[in-house]
Amino acid sequence: MIKLGYIADFFYKQIYPNRCLFCRTLIDEDKVLCASCHKKLPVHGVCQGTRGGYRCSAAFIYHGKPKHAVLRFKFKGKTSFAEKFAQLLATDVKRSYEDMIFDYITYVPMHKKAKKKRGYNQSELLAKELSKILGIPCVETLTKIKHTKPQHKLKSKERLKNLKGVFKITDKNLIKDKSILIIDDIITTGTTLGECAKTLQKATPSLICCETILTTARLY
Ligand SMILES: [Zn+2]
Repeated sequence: MIKLGYIADFFYKQIYPNRCLFCRTLIDEDKVLCASCHKKLPVHGVCQGTRGGYRCSAAFIYHGKPKHAVLRFKFKGKTSFAEKFAQLLATDVKRSYEDMIFDYITYVPMHKKAKKKRGYNQSELLAKELSKILGIPCVETLTKIKHTKPQHKLKSKERLKNLKGVFKITDKNLIKDKSILIIDDIITTGTTLGECAKTLQKATPSLICCETILTTARLY
């Protein structure tokens, strides 16, 4: 007997066939990118430091098709992109952090008002999908206790002030002596990830690293 789930899945794929994450060309079911995007836009693995000096790797530069896809994922409700972005992040994590073992994956939290307005936290979705792929538990380690202005609308000095003391650790015992990978969608000045790492540091983890889809840092 054919199961209902199988039939539903079949029709879903007829209505929403698999498309390239970057250019929306129809592609095979198990692929993330079309052959052309895969060749032209390989995962870069751009390493930089956050504020406070924590290591961060980004899969792509904030430019062109990857940028356009992330903005749709973040602002246009394209939550289905999370699974595919997580596959690209997994490629970068395996390469950029090949000697490291992470106990937990976590993510930059949103204030509950901001999350309610958007309907989802894109970094949380990414972290949960990445967790499934890498087999590393995803845990909520931080909450955002103050509603703040969007960081990208502020100047560099204001960014730090805007985030001071806005994150709170959920459970110190969870973090103590653990190695943690923090996920976010975009790193710009590294202020947000730096503030998250600084807050987590109070619970004395053994290691904190960060991973994002995009970075605004230029390639030299
Ligand atoms: Zn493509």
